[in-house]
Amino acid sequence: MVTLEPEKKLYMKKLTKKLTACAGLSLYAEQPGGTVGITGHLCGDKLCFVCNSQRSRVTRRKYRSWFEANPVLFEVTGSNGRSKVVTAFQYHKNYEGAHYQPVKYEVMHFTLTVPHTAENGYRGKQIYFDEFTRCMTELRRLKFWTDNVLGGEYGYETERKYAGVHIHVHGLMFVVAGLQNRNRLHRELLMNWNRLTVDSDNCRSVFSETDIAGIRKGNKLITEDDVNEMNPKGATIINLETIYTKNKETGLKERVKDFSDKGFMRGVMEAIKYHFEPSFFDKKENQFDLQMVADLKPLLHGKALYKKFGCLVGETALNINENIQVEYSDAVEDFDPGTGEILERDFYTVNPALMYADKDNITWSRAAVASRRQIKARTTSEAVSVLAGMIREACRGGLFRTETQKLDHA
Ligand SMILES: [Zn+2]
Repeated sequence: MVTLEPEKKLYMKKLTKKLTACAGLSLYAEQPGGTVGITGHLCGDKLCFVCNSQRSRVTRRKYRSWFEANPVLFEVTGSNGRSKVVTAFQYHKNYEGAHYQPVKYEVMHFTLTVPHTAENGYRGKQIYFDEFTRCMTELRRLKFWTDNVLGGEYGYETERKYAGVHIHVHGLMFVVAGLQNRNRLHRELLMNWNRLTVDSDNCRSVFSETDIAGIRKGNKLITEDDVNEMNPKGATIINLETIYTKNKETGLKERVKDFSDKGFMRGVMEAIKYHFEPSFFDKKENQFDLQMVADLKPLLHGKALYKKFGCLVGETALNINENIQVEYSDAVEDFDPGTGEILERDFYTVNPALMYADKDNITWSRAAVASRRQIKARTTSEAVSVLAGMIREACRGGLFRTETQKLDHA
């Protein structure tokens, strides 16, 4: 049995309440042709599997349409007279009609870590989130970065490993298209990141043969001089990859440049899947490291763990952590497509666990029929706002409290 300090216990109680309430109440419509699911209450927590799968689905859709709308970026002259690369959305919003130069770009996936040890953490901190953030800010100001990287997004991941708390960054960057750009950029990123992340308290004072092999692996542009220039007290492991697919016959990685290629979205989602997979979950053991959740989540609360940069700043179409609580699919029509008449139907709320659903049909179980509640509404959006009100009421009134009470008595 784990005993938690009061502050952590309060956090865990709140979390349990949220997770228990998640997907507990959903809205369905019975209409000619069958039953359709409209939406459900989602808790929005990053540790919730239901919400993560929804977030991942929505994000895939967002990114696909974003890449369709942005085959190139726009280089324009900003109000300060300097050139600036913007997205199609920003061009039409702020520079419509202005002269622009189309900019071809490629998408890469990157991972960054800082050197840390179980005893000392990083720069004297066990939870070095703020220190990491400062390195990221400095990195994004460097000339090699602003010259090559047009924009992107990244998220912080936290795990507990043999060397203490392991914080790292995964993200996507949009870089100016060009020959050999991966190796060139990888080398510059490695050299600069190594310099920026030096921790004078780190105990490594020379590189071992293994370190050197690791540094030179995967990039033929890194020379012996480069290795000599690097600081053993800074980070030496980074990852930078183009978006690729695996050739089914040869098993080899193939670079995907065409945004409309089927493999491209697969690669992008693979690169950002970390945003939807809680690192507190141990896939091998199939369980959460609850002690770690209790230890770390309160400390990370309110921190910006996800960031867009460069041309993606303000690109609201790509927000992945916005409120997903009561959002319904716009595929649900209020009108009969044949006659244009408003559809005759009945709206119900029910616990979705009681429904039968397969690929084509949603059907009512006896328990679902017995416990469903009919909602008086004419349109989908009316029904959704009634549902939203019910959820607010339920959260206040404690309909979802049972699990939390159990925890109270534990
Ligand atoms: Zn949830």
